[in-house]
Order: sequence, then C-alpha cells, then structure tokens
Amino acid sequence: MLGKEIQDALNNQIKNEYFASYTYLSMAAHCESINLRGFAKWLRKQSSEELEHAMKLFDYVIDRDAQIVLQAIEKPQTKYKSLTDMFQQVLDQEREVTGMINKLYEKAINENDHATAVELHWFIREQVEEEKNATEILDKLKFAGDNSSAILLLDSQLGQRA
Ligand code: MG
Repeated sequence: MLGKEIQDALNNQIKNEYFASYTYLSMAAHCESINLRGFAKWLRKQSSEELEHAMKLFDYVIDRDAQIVLQAIEKPQTKYKSLTDMFQQVLDQEREVTGMINKLYEKAINENDHATAVELHWFIREQVEEEKNATEILDKLKFAGDNSSAILLLDSQLGQRA
C-alpha cells in the first residue's frame, strides 16, 4: 500500500507528465505548420516519451495496490513567438518537472517509503538527460539567430532522432 499523501502526489505527477506530453505535441503541431518537420519529429518523440513517463507512474501506483485518480489536463499554449522562445519554454518546463520529481522524492524519503524513492531514481536520472538535451538545442538556436541555413541544418539534425 501507498500512503495517501504519496498516492495523491503520484496521481498528480501522472497529470504533470501528460501535460508535458500535451505541450510537446502542441509545439510539434506548430513546427509542422511552418514545415520544420525535423523539429516536429523531435517534439513528437518527446511527447510520446512523456506519455511513457506517465504510464510508468501509472503502473507503479497499480503495483503498489493503490488507487489511480486521473486528473484534468490543462490546455497547452498554441502560439509560439520563435523557435528560441519555444525551446526556452522546453528548458523551463523540464526544470520545473525536475523540481516536481525532487519534491516527490523528498516526500517519499520523509515518509520512509523506500520503494517509491527507488522508483523515482529512474526519473531523477531521466531529468538530467532532458535538461541536457533542451539546453543543447536552445544553445544551438541562440547561435543560429536569424540564420535560416543554420536553422534548416538543425531541423535536419533533429529529424534524425530515432
Ligand atoms: Mg517526463
């Protein structure tokens, strides 16, 4: 069994992962609309990874014989000023998620819920990777500035994501 507070926090995090997924999907749609298919592909992949994160937590709550209570997902932003702006948001969002995971981890430790703490180790490592990737793309976009050849090159690089 899970403590009520941990159960609520995990259900809340499932919603947060879905919101992250939804946000990436909205960004992907924007990139599709301006024919930057490489960016769109990268963002779609990111969106489906966030769904996997949500499902990993979903399965964990079930494994602990606790209750899943799904929550409403907010509407994501649909308009973006620029790619740099978009990827600044990506980085901000990932940093925010890192903060959420850390809080969840602290809660698990405080309640002596070692199983949840161990489950969260994977998420803590994953966030290091997520922030690293977002920072790298954002830095490249800042270097590229208004140079469309550089942006198109980055688009083709991001399109190679498996
Ligand atoms: Mg995630």
